[in-house]
Amino acid sequence: MGNLIDIIKSDVRYEDSLKACMNCGICTAICPAAEFYDYDPRRICDTVQRGDEEQVEKLLRSDTIWYCGQCMSCKPRCPRGNIPGAVINILRKVSQDMGYYKESHMGRQQVDLMAGIGDNILNIGYCVHPDVVFPEKHPEQGPVWEWYVKNIKAVNRRNGFP
Ligand code: SF4
Ligand code: SF4
Repeated sequence: MGNLIDIIKSDVRYEDSLKACMNCGICTAICPAAEFYDYDPRRICDTVQRGDEEQVEKLLRSDTIWYCGQCMSCKPRCPRGNIPGAVINILRKVSQDMGYYKESHMGRQQVDLMAGIGDNILNIGYCVHPDVVFPEKHPEQGPVWEWYVKNIKAVNRRNGFP
């Protein structure tokens, strides 16, 4: 601990992302994630701006930074030209680099998802493709999908595919 703020500020995106937050809360007011989660981009910008290492580390270890949907609705609304969504992106990177994300359920979930998407793009050229949506990794797809994957060859034959 001790230089998290320096690491965050050394990110090439930082200069354009957080200039001087005046805590107006407009970003939080329009943020769709703030509507559904205990999540407040204003508070995140304030924490980073204040530079309290202990609070920043707490943030990097928490679920909070993973609630952002990266919609960037906050970008054009900020009267100070800040980009809270980009600040959060920097925090996510540092959280991954430091290994802190492992302490967050949401962090583990999203890092795993992004790694899977990256592998898919490299291996098959798509972010997501039915061939790699395995039921054991995607239980949310439900029993119909599980049945389909087990019987895909028979289904294809019946539909005239090789
Ligand atoms: S809208 Fe901009 S100035 Fe206002 S709280 Fe959010 S980041 Fe800070
Ligand atoms: S980018 Fe993140 S913080 Fe900004 S409005 Fe969208 S969900 Fe909220």
